[in-house]
Amino acid sequence: MRKKIVILGSTGSIGQQTLEVIRKYSNEFEVVGLSGWENTTFLKEQISFFKPKIAVVKNENTAKKLEKDLNNLNDIKILWGIDGLVKISILEEADIIVVAITGVASLIPTYEAVKQGKNIALASKEAIVVAGELLVKEAKLRNASILPIDSEHSAILQCLKNEKKDSVEKIILTASGGALYNLTETALNNVSVEDALNHPTWKMGKKVTIDSATLMNKGLEVIEAKWFFNIPANKIEIVIHPQSHVHSMVQFIDGTILAQIGEHDMRIPIQYALFYPNRTTNNFPRLELTKIGQLTFKKVYFDKFPCIKLAYQALELGGTMPAVLNGANEIAVNAFLNNQISFSSIPLLIKNTMKEHKPKHNPNINDILDADYWARERALDFCMNVK
Ligand code: MG
Repeated sequence: MRKKIVILGSTGSIGQQTLEVIRKYSNEFEVVGLSGWENTTFLKEQISFFKPKIAVVKNENTAKKLEKDLNNLNDIKILWGIDGLVKISILEEADIIVVAITGVASLIPTYEAVKQGKNIALASKEAIVVAGELLVKEAKLRNASILPIDSEHSAILQCLKNEKKDSVEKIILTASGGALYNLTETALNNVSVEDALNHPTWKMGKKVTIDSATLMNKGLEVIEAKWFFNIPANKIEIVIHPQSHVHSMVQFIDGTILAQIGEHDMRIPIQYALFYPNRTTNNFPRLELTKIGQLTFKKVYFDKFPCIKLAYQALELGGTMPAVLNGANEIAVNAFLNNQISFSSIPLLIKNTMKEHKPKHNPNINDILDADYWARERALDFCMNVK
């Protein structure tokens, strides 16, 4: 029996690479649902090839357009909006839901899928950042798994396999440092959007590339690690590793450090999540160690990249605070991309928003959505007043 897969965000970078992996293993997997939001032309191609039963787009208009483009060739149901996303996330026959939509939009479909006991392969880190506590609790209750499709967390998952939890001394998350790591604090003030988008090692979407430049991406990954592996924040460390080949490490109580090393290729963590707990062959490019020659590691400077500090703080304050951190960050990044605020205003805006929030503990889904909404509104106000 082939495993039935739903992909939320199939036209994005992770979605495309997931389909690439599935295509290579069409005897193992079958695509039953795809969501592509606005990019109906691309979605149409994917539908023609993979023949899912359901597709989801942004709204009624995009649904009509897709229907017309498909010219009734496929026997397919087209849904739209968040309701549509939820419907394919809880599709009865689906075995694995791959969640790869940018931002907090991933939260509701992920939550509903987990509540139905679906196994999740999660690329949208925002969902677990804002609602990690709730998602993990629900997943446990329903015996559902949430596996990471994030290179760092996939690495940690691999290092922790067959290890006892109390053997872990700390998790060491590696960070490339992003596009701007070597700049001075003053130079960081005058960074352009183009500079910040110029990531040295990974080719990714805009939001996560800016998050890499501010190092917020690593901050979000600290929160992600806490929930994926149930490890307290003080046992999660970050080191700068410019080559990005060591995807992350775990240090054990006997001083041993295990690392997962490989090419910059997201298809590897995608494949690992889809086949978990097994490993399977592939013909992706191999890392040639002698060609690389060197792997280097550097300290991370919290003062230069305050977003990391804010993420640790949000995790420590707990409850709804990570949702506020994330909501404010999404607004700030968007404002920076639109040239409304400067690069160094990003952490400032998040900090100011967090300062005004009193976190609610053991939040339910509505508390989290409320905190997210509030943070966005508040951050938008701040955007008007900073430059
Ligand atoms: Mg990552």
